[in-house]
Amino acid sequence: MIRLHRLDLSDEAEKDLLDLKANITDVGSARKRSARALFNRARQANLFQKKVISTLSGMNGRSQRCFYCLSDRGSAVDHYRPIDDDPDAAFNWDNYILACSVCNSSEKNKAFPVDEAGKPTLLNPVDVDPHAYLPLNKIGEFLWFDEETDETPEVKRVRSVNNATLKYLGLNEYQDLIHERGSAWVMIETLLPMLTRNTDQRAAEIKKMLTESPLVLSVLAFMVHIYSNHSEPLEYLGERLYRAIADCPETQKWVDPELRSRPEEHRIMQELCGKRCVDVQTTGDDHCIHFEEDISVSTRASNAPEAKGKKLLHAYNRKGKVVFQFHGLELVAPPSHWTIGPRPDSEI
Ligand SMILES: [Zn+2]
Repeated sequence: MIRLHRLDLSDEAEKDLLDLKANITDVGSARKRSARALFNRARQANLFQKKVISTLSGMNGRSQRCFYCLSDRGSAVDHYRPIDDDPDAAFNWDNYILACSVCNSSEKNKAFPVDEAGKPTLLNPVDVDPHAYLPLNKIGEFLWFDEETDETPEVKRVRSVNNATLKYLGLNEYQDLIHERGSAWVMIETLLPMLTRNTDQRAAEIKKMLTESPLVLSVLAFMVHIYSNHSEPLEYLGERLYRAIADCPETQKWVDPELRSRPEEHRIMQELCGKRCVDVQTTGDDHCIHFEEDISVSTRASNAPEAKGKKLLHAYNRKGKVVFQFHGLELVAPPSHWTIGPRPDSEI
């Protein structure tokens, strides 16, 4: 798992969900049946197939990865709190998770484990950073916390979440995913130390390999978590990894859930990085991107002149427009209207 940042659903889609919620009828178990029937019909429609699933995918770097196990089979809209537990949450955007058929149909399907205080014990990666609850070993297995004598309430809570999440989602049951996580560990251990010894194009390629797959990125995010929070990070990670993370503070930004959750920005950043980006400085929502050579940015949405140069201030506007500020010129357009390319030869 990796921490995710919930994106806003469009106003139109939110309204469609509210309309569906208003159609849930009856009380008690009949209300559950009503909500389930409505949801089963609605999930075949455009609202779910296009808007809900694409916004959920955007939360994970635009990929249809299961939020729980990060397999690439995340195709179903799952209710974090099941319909049987709360039929009124059947059409709540905040209750939606993108899940694979295995996680969606495992023990979790209708169960909703809670602790003695009634607090959910199934990890929701949209709400909390999963790494403190699900430590990983080098071969890709999550560690199971055993009950200890004299547990503090905090330790008990962490153990309850660890146990429930591993049990209900079966995260250690699938050998292919254990193998993928273990391979990701080796890959990061090999490539990350090379990053500081390489510059420009080669460094951009290494970064792409480490950040493109949400599963590889989740292992890197776990390592960064250990580096920042563990009492003995050097022992846990080993000298090579520990030094590599220390030498590359940029990794903190790569695993930042909010930066990763902006799909169009993510695409543009990747394209830009492929154009020999040499540095990205982030302040709040703004990214100042520096290039080794001149690039050009243009939009077909307006008659604004093309912008060219080595330095570009790129800001993301949550209302669906990307704003580029470039040499004092501000260009605004929907993300799909942008063209980013190398500087044309004719340009001085
Ligand atoms: Zn899954």
